[in-house]
Amino acid sequence: MLRLEDVTVAYGRVTALKGVSLELREGELVSLIGANGAGKSTALKTVSGLLRPLSGRITWDGEPISGLLPREILQRGIAHCPEGRRVFPHLSVRENLAMGALLRTDSAGIASDLEAMYARFPRLKERAAQAAGTLSGGEQQMLAIARALMSRPRLVMFDEPSLGLAPNIVEQVFSIVQEVRREGLTVLMVEQNALAALSLCDRAYLMETGRVVRAGTGTELLESSDVREAYLGGR
Ligand code: ATP
Repeated sequence: MLRLEDVTVAYGRVTALKGVSLELREGELVSLIGANGAGKSTALKTVSGLLRPLSGRITWDGEPISGLLPREILQRGIAHCPEGRRVFPHLSVRENLAMGALLRTDSAGIASDLEAMYARFPRLKERAAQAAGTLSGGEQQMLAIARALMSRPRLVMFDEPSLGLAPNIVEQVFSIVQEVRREGLTVLMVEQNALAALSLCDRAYLMETGRVVRAGTGTELLESSDVREAYLGGR
């Protein structure tokens, strides 16, 4: 479905991705794990068109997509739920959700998806008219997820969805990620919380300094001694 082949990306003189190859099959939940600065966020930003690769290929259903604009990538069904949530703080919850559907023209579908989001996230319904910046961190994360889903994507990419949230909210976020996947969406998730990410996913890629250094099923990576030592406190 999505394939990155030998993708290199740089910020000026800093090469953040050094020939990354990875693949997602329809319906999979794939995690990208690795230390800070490994290049995980850069990989997501490159898929969503915010960054352009210097070299390499990105294909979606076999069609090249590197070089397309972010909105063209969104239109093809790839949504990005960015690190730090990035809700529009001065817009209301409802307006933030509407932004997620900006490229859609099926108003009846948008209205029914909005109701579906409110049913799934009752707090967002209660706060529909409130400025998004006044929500708690957990509520903002739910809003960011719901906003991404409002585009009706086939692939949704979550960047650090659990970052900075209280443990009970983290659990909720991960159960939403699983729910989204059970509904048939393909999910690519970047997570610092390697234990949770590996327990949830079908497959994972471990990144170090711009390279994929290991790939396997979640269970394989959970059981590998170097992953355990580096990311799971040797447990
Ligand atoms: P984190 O969890 O900290 O976001 P990450 O694995 O997602 O880590 P990236 O954010 O992709 O890592 O960063 C990869 C490399 O690119 C790092 O060396 C980082 O310092 C560098 N980098 C990231 N963003 C920029 C930027 N806007 N300008 C210059 N260098 C950057």
